[in-house]
Amino acid sequence: MAQRTWTRKKRDKRQREDIERHEERRERRRASLMEQSVSQLGLEEAEEFSDTAIARSRKVKDGQRSQSEDLVPGRVIHFRRSLFEVQLEDGSLIQARSRSTTRSPHPDSTLVAVGDRVLVDPAQALIAEVQPRENRISRASKIHDEIEQVIVSNVDQLLVVASVCDPYLKPGVLDRYLLAAEAYHISSIIVLNKVDLDPAGEWQEIAKIYRAAGYPVLECSAESRAGLELLRDTLTNRVSVLSGQSGVGKSSLLNALDPELELPVGEIMQGARKGRHTTTHSRLIAFRFGGWVADTPGIKEFRLWGMDEAEVAALYPEFRVHAGECHFHNCSHTHEPDCAVKQAVEDGIVSMLRYRNYLQVLEQLRGN
Ligand code: GDP
Ligand code: ZN
Repeated sequence: MAQRTWTRKKRDKRQREDIERHEERRERRRASLMEQSVSQLGLEEAEEFSDTAIARSRKVKDGQRSQSEDLVPGRVIHFRRSLFEVQLEDGSLIQARSRSTTRSPHPDSTLVAVGDRVLVDPAQALIAEVQPRENRISRASKIHDEIEQVIVSNVDQLLVVASVCDPYLKPGVLDRYLLAAEAYHISSIIVLNKVDLDPAGEWQEIAKIYRAAGYPVLECSAESRAGLELLRDTLTNRVSVLSGQSGVGKSSLLNALDPELELPVGEIMQGARKGRHTTTHSRLIAFRFGGWVADTPGIKEFRLWGMDEAEVAALYPEFRVHAGECHFHNCSHTHEPDCAVKQAVEDGIVSMLRYRNYLQVLEQLRGN
């Protein structure tokens, strides 16, 4: 129990820090917009703006200038033998190290992670500064672990891949990935693969349920190439993480979209992948059509523990819509009277399948 409280406190602290960083970023953006409009408006009209806002915008700008002189922006795409591979904005690659002098706005976590936007000092092959992370996937940190282990940061979307057949689609498993994405504040898209194996289209019922819950659902086949164009458009110019059970066709889909990737497919691959998943390092793989896919260790075992029931419920987008109407603000939508979520399930607005899966997740949580 004490451990749980400790974990929750730590998580709350991180969330507060995230919000503060977000506020800081917004403030910086506002300040620079302010300065832009001041220079566009000319001096007279500029007086309408408050002096403090202008002063602050100058300070931020001066500060940035002194720090970023001779530094070039890029994104970390790989880590190997103590060297980070950074892709610069012109597409070129540079190898750089981190040092104790590397500045980071994330003191409690991995100093430099794959996905990070960084400022590099090319002369010294040094990562001088890590920019604030928009989000990150981190390893469920062990209790007493002081440092959050970031697996990959600045992820635009999580693609949860399932197959309609072979292996059969398991909504319970699908939900676990979706919950992970919600907890990491990453938007997710469901990809139903192997539609060629079920011409009757039995999966469509499931697709309907998840669309109603608020998730985009793509239906495709690496085999027949159905739906691949839409999938490619979804991946273009974004950083995506693919998740899903092994065997659902993640590698096959990626190969079908970009044959140069030559990812191994099938049984042998699964063995190799298992070995690799013991590390926390990931890699961003570039598509020839633009964008990256993150090759990451598994993300299913994530930080559900330590959450209370209302917090887990808040990870279901379609529950959130109704939760405000529940009698208790921290309603777990299980035993409470006047529960708007249970009512919505009864009325057929919220899917019974998703609700039952939610109850199962709670049971697993209590069992832990
Ligand atoms: P991963 O473990 O999720 O990366 O799955 P793989 O890409 O290794 O694929 C597992 C197996 O499913 C392989 O035998 C593939 O040939 C097969 N497979 C992948 N996509 C499809 C598909 O769309 N249709 C059919 N029929 N088989 C597929
Ligand atoms: Zn409720």
